[in-house]
Amino acid sequence: MYKQHTCAFLDIKHDSTLIIKEDDEPWILRILKLATEDDLENNHHLEIIGDIIDQIEITVCFCPYCGAQLDKLENMLISYSYNDSSHW
Ligand SMILES: [Zn+2]
Repeated sequence: MYKQHTCAFLDIKHDSTLIIKEDDEPWILRILKLATEDDLENNHHLEIIGDIIDQIEITVCFCPYCGAQLDKLENMLISYSYNDSSHW
């Protein structure tokens, strides 16, 4: 089951920063860099405004914006991932 933290500090329309959880996975802060018009002009690999340029995922126990506790501390697994989609 997919869950998303609803946060007073994260505008729902600001979809490039998400705090999400899937099934028994830890909570993840996912930050996307989405292509702008300038990015399209500078990188011919990108085709559409809003394409994902890169993505960072960090496991979190607390929301870094409002401070709400999302998970029990004993469930904390520290991990980090970075995906760069701007080169194919
Ligand atoms: Zn929050």
